[in-house]
Amino acid sequence: MAVYFSGRKKIGEVSVTLDSGRMRIDCAIYEKWIDIDSSTTARCGSPGICQVARTEGVSEKTSQTVEQSISASLGLDDILKLKATIKEVFGYEVNWSHSITTTKTFNFEAPMCGRYSLVIYQLLREYELTCSRQRFWTLRHDVWDKKWSRTIVEYTNTHDALPDVEEFDEICKSRPDCRDKATMPPFHDGILCFDMGKASFRVPYRLTSDGFDVQILKRVISFTFTDYPAGIRGLEQGLTISLPIQVMPEPLVFLSPPQNQEVEAKVFRYMDPDEDQARIPMDVLTGVTTLKGILTLAGQETR
Ligand SMILES: [Zn+2]
Repeated sequence: MAVYFSGRKKIGEVSVTLDSGRMRIDCAIYEKWIDIDSSTTARCGSPGICQVARTEGVSEKTSQTVEQSISASLGLDDILKLKATIKEVFGYEVNWSHSITTTKTFNFEAPMCGRYSLVIYQLLREYELTCSRQRFWTLRHDVWDKKWSRTIVEYTNTHDALPDVEEFDEICKSRPDCRDKATMPPFHDGILCFDMGKASFRVPYRLTSDGFDVQILKRVISFTFTDYPAGIRGLEQGLTISLPIQVMPEPLVFLSPPQNQEVEAKVFRYMDPDEDQARIPMDVLTGVTTLKGILTLAGQETR
C-alpha cells in the first residue's frame, strides 16, 4: 500500500531481548510522507519542471551511527535479530545501508489555459530505538536501566505523486488569445488514488456516461465500466485496473520502477485517512473497468 496520509503515524513496536535476556531493545516504528520534489508551476501550454532524487536506505551519517555507536553496544548478530523481528512482524525488509542519491529532472507542459504542478512525496520510516539493560544486584528481575536511545530515519522506495491541476487559470481570462478556447468539462467528482504498491498517484476524476476520466498531466485517460452500478460502487470500495506504465507520472516510474509494462493498480476515491474514518478493506472489484482511451491534450498554439 502506498496511500498518502498527512502527519506522522505509528505503525507499531517490537522488542527483542539479547545477551541471554539481560539486554532489551525496544523499537517503535513511525511512518510519514515528505515532499521531495523541487518543481515549478506551468501555465497555459508553457513548460515546467519537476526535479526529484532517488534515495533509499539511510544517510551516510546514519549509516555510520548504526555501524559505530549502535554496533559498539549491540554487535552485528543483535542488529540482524532486530531486523528479522521487524520483518516477521511487519512483513518488509529493513534497509539501513547507505545508498547513493540519483537526481533526475522531468519536463512537462501545462494544458492549454490550465495550471499545473506536480508534488512528489516519499515515505519515510523512523525507528526509535531504546536499549535497556537489566539491573544487577537486585532480587527483582524486571528492573531495567535505560542505556541509550537513537532514532534511525530510513528512506523507502515508496512514492506518491499529487498533480496539482487548475483547469482554468485565472490569468488566461484577461489574455485575448485564450478567451475562445473550447473548455473541457471540469473534473469535479473528487480525487482518485491509483495505488500500485510502491507507487501511487492521486488525480481528479469526472464521471462520464459509461465510466470515468482522469487527467494526468496533458493526458486525459478514459475508462469504461462493463457494469456501471458495480463500477460506481467500485470507486468507493476499490477497483483493480491494469494500466500501461506510460500513464503513470514519469517521476514515479523513475522513483519506484514497476516490474512490467503493465501495472496493476488498486483504484479508489481518495480521502485523507486522517480526516476521515479509517478505510475498511473491502473486496476489490476486478474486471469491471477497462481502459477506453488516452487523449493527449493540445498545447497552446504558437502565437
Ligand atoms: Zn490560456
